[in-house]
Amino acid sequence: MKAIVKTLLRITRNQIKNLLKVLLNKPVTLPSLGSMTLGLDDVVIAKSLLKNRKDWRSEHVVFEYEKMFAQWNGSNFAFAFMGGRVALSACLYALDLNEGDEVLLPGYTCIVVPNAIKYAGLKPVYVDIELDTYGLDAEKLEQKITPATKAIILHHLYGLVCRDYEEIISIAQKFNLKVIEDCAHSTGAEFKGKKVGNLGDLAFYSSEQSKIFNTIQGGIAVTNNAEMATKISEYYQQSNLPSDDLIYRQLNNVIFNYYKFADSSRWWKGDVAELFYGRRSIISTTKEEMLGIKPESYGQRMPAAIAKIGINQLPKIDQCNQHRRNTAKKWDEWCKNKGYNSPLVVEQSIPVYLRYPVLVKENMKKELSWAVDELKVAPGVWFITNVHPAQVLVEDCKNADEAVRRCINLPCLGVIDE
Ligand SMILES: *Cc1c(COP(=O)(O)O)cnc(C)c1O
Repeated sequence: MKAIVKTLLRITRNQIKNLLKVLLNKPVTLPSLGSMTLGLDDVVIAKSLLKNRKDWRSEHVVFEYEKMFAQWNGSNFAFAFMGGRVALSACLYALDLNEGDEVLLPGYTCIVVPNAIKYAGLKPVYVDIELDTYGLDAEKLEQKITPATKAIILHHLYGLVCRDYEEIISIAQKFNLKVIEDCAHSTGAEFKGKKVGNLGDLAFYSSEQSKIFNTIQGGIAVTNNAEMATKISEYYQQSNLPSDDLIYRQLNNVIFNYYKFADSSRWWKGDVAELFYGRRSIISTTKEEMLGIKPESYGQRMPAAIAKIGINQLPKIDQCNQHRRNTAKKWDEWCKNKGYNSPLVVEQSIPVYLRYPVLVKENMKKELSWAVDELKVAPGVWFITNVHPAQVLVEDCKNADEAVRRCINLPCLGVIDE
């Protein structure tokens, strides 16, 4: 009861502020950090699923989603899970490594990435990044290879194809290491005519609500190697489907997120939708995960109810990514005028700009109101620590430390046409 009163008070306060802004002829909404790839069509699907629980678990819908993704991505095999992190766990499982083996990863990532390595009984070893695309620095990577090193996780952060992509793959071949590509930010990005995720041995993608496409929570693991696919499928068979309660919450969140982030009248509809659909929201990274503890329900695969949203989201990705690239041109122009470096677009690559990263002065990352005034957007601050958003000691990663202090990211969806 208390919680409802609190929500009502907050919403009332919010709406009084908004009404004042309308009266003063000031803008009432800012493009937000949340995903804007949800449309009314997704809302219709979610509402219909909420009425038909019998449709929540039919396997053929999930297979259809996996097949669609594989085809679109140019990959031979795809498996859908309840998160990019789970898809990563499946990839690590497929490598068939031994306890204590070392996995190299960027010292600028999300806590769930080293967590997946630890959950698999492996040892994360952080490597510094370069500051052109925030990817692994190939030279520094090679220095960290020991006889215990067995795999490398590279990433394409903010939707940028990483600068040392080909070099990292050839280092891996030279030392007989496996490569997993973290494509959580870069679904749809291309390099030499192929989607990213197809150069390494395995790759994973995320459809968490702040990523390129949105199923609230979700992830996909892909590979082009039949043996690896058999191993992923083994992990898949062992994994459970989420509870009805979690599916119910996910579907409610699809509706809530649409009205909160995407609808053109979201400044008031978002608050109304919160009353109906916003209860029991979904936390993407739990307190346990922040502490490196494996949640009991970790490791689930995707049910049909969520795959249906995925199937509807997939055909929208290319168009949304084109919108993101158009917005990036505007941020390029701004960088040029202000003397900031634009993120590097690697030759023969097509980035997707999940967010547009810029290195600014330290105090400008701490206090972002300048951007709201100057750019009319609220910048994001991924990453506020080396393993966002948890505090874990990451040594010997000077560039990553600098990015933590200075890198802000500008939204690329929902900025133009408003
Ligand atoms: C979001 C993210 C992940 C994990 O994806 P989830 O779907 O949230 O599990 C992994 N790596 C990076 C860089 C991410 O931003």
